[in-house]
Amino acid sequence: MAKKKYAIGVDFGGTKVLGAVVELATGKVKGEYKVASSAYDSGDALMDRIYEVIDGALVAADVKASECDGIGVGIAGQVDADRGLLIGTANLSRSVVDLPMGANITKKYKLPAAIRNDVQIAAVGEARFGAGVGCDDFLCVFIGTGIGGAIVKNGQILPGFSGNAGEIGHTTIEAHGRICGCGARGHLEAYASRTAITKVILGELRRGRTSVVTDLIPGLDPTDAGVAIKSGVLKKAVKAGDVVVTETVTEAGKYIGLGLASMVNFVNPQRIILGGGVVDSVDLLFESAEYWTRHEALPYAGKMVEIEKAKLGDYSGVIGAAVIASEVA
Ligand SMILES: [Zn+2]
Repeated sequence: MAKKKYAIGVDFGGTKVLGAVVELATGKVKGEYKVASSAYDSGDALMDRIYEVIDGALVAADVKASECDGIGVGIAGQVDADRGLLIGTANLSRSVVDLPMGANITKKYKLPAAIRNDVQIAAVGEARFGAGVGCDDFLCVFIGTGIGGAIVKNGQILPGFSGNAGEIGHTTIEAHGRICGCGARGHLEAYASRTAITKVILGELRRGRTSVVTDLIPGLDPTDAGVAIKSGVLKKAVKAGDVVVTETVTEAGKYIGLGLASMVNFVNPQRIILGGGVVDSVDLLFESAEYWTRHEALPYAGKMVEIEKAKLGDYSGVIGAAVIASEVA
């Protein structure tokens, strides 16, 4: 139970780390601090990024650590929530495993710490202060460099037996399909993440089709595997009526809809909350996903399910992490 006015949330993503001091009664971010992240060779280097954003957020908020209930961290990867361990993440070299993040944070700040995966914290943020308010039965799906999801039933996140429940990005939507980052074939993430959308557009450019994307990203090299087409560029291209991007986004939305329709039939949730930068900026993706979800689901379940955009944008994770930290405190 929350005893103090604030808690600290940290959202450790693939490209950035955001820390925030959150007012627990309202979900308002009192102060925030952000740094770029990359892959790290050591647990200490990763922890330093976390300390940096915690310290920065406290200064920005003009709040002392002692005024906070605790510190919550969400990270893209596998965590052992009970023991506060980071088991593995793409941000760390494989030699670093079982990093005791919770114990390290508690030792440094003398505050309770909670470690979760990044989708779970975002789902809790949306549940408490965003698109999940007033609903305790929903699915949260976030589309970014990958696709993550969480299942909320009776107001609680369903972790699953081994902590993997909600991994909608790794459900099969094409037999013998594209190879996914996890190594398997035909998974949703390989068709509808921002990374997948980028790959398809670059492929079309290499085949000689033209797109405003080449004007929007000066010097774009379609053969460069490291290119990431940002959500803002996709938005502008769709608005300009670009055929390649419109086609690609519509198709990605269809695949998301196929995945969601299966979830609707299997879980029969009251609501689906779709979030992530690309959903936020590109309405066409959301519209296509909604259309195909309703079209492919069993008629009554597909008609009844509420499909909404996440409301807290980039802040759902830090707000959720703070909420979780205050609950375990
Ligand atoms: Zn996969």
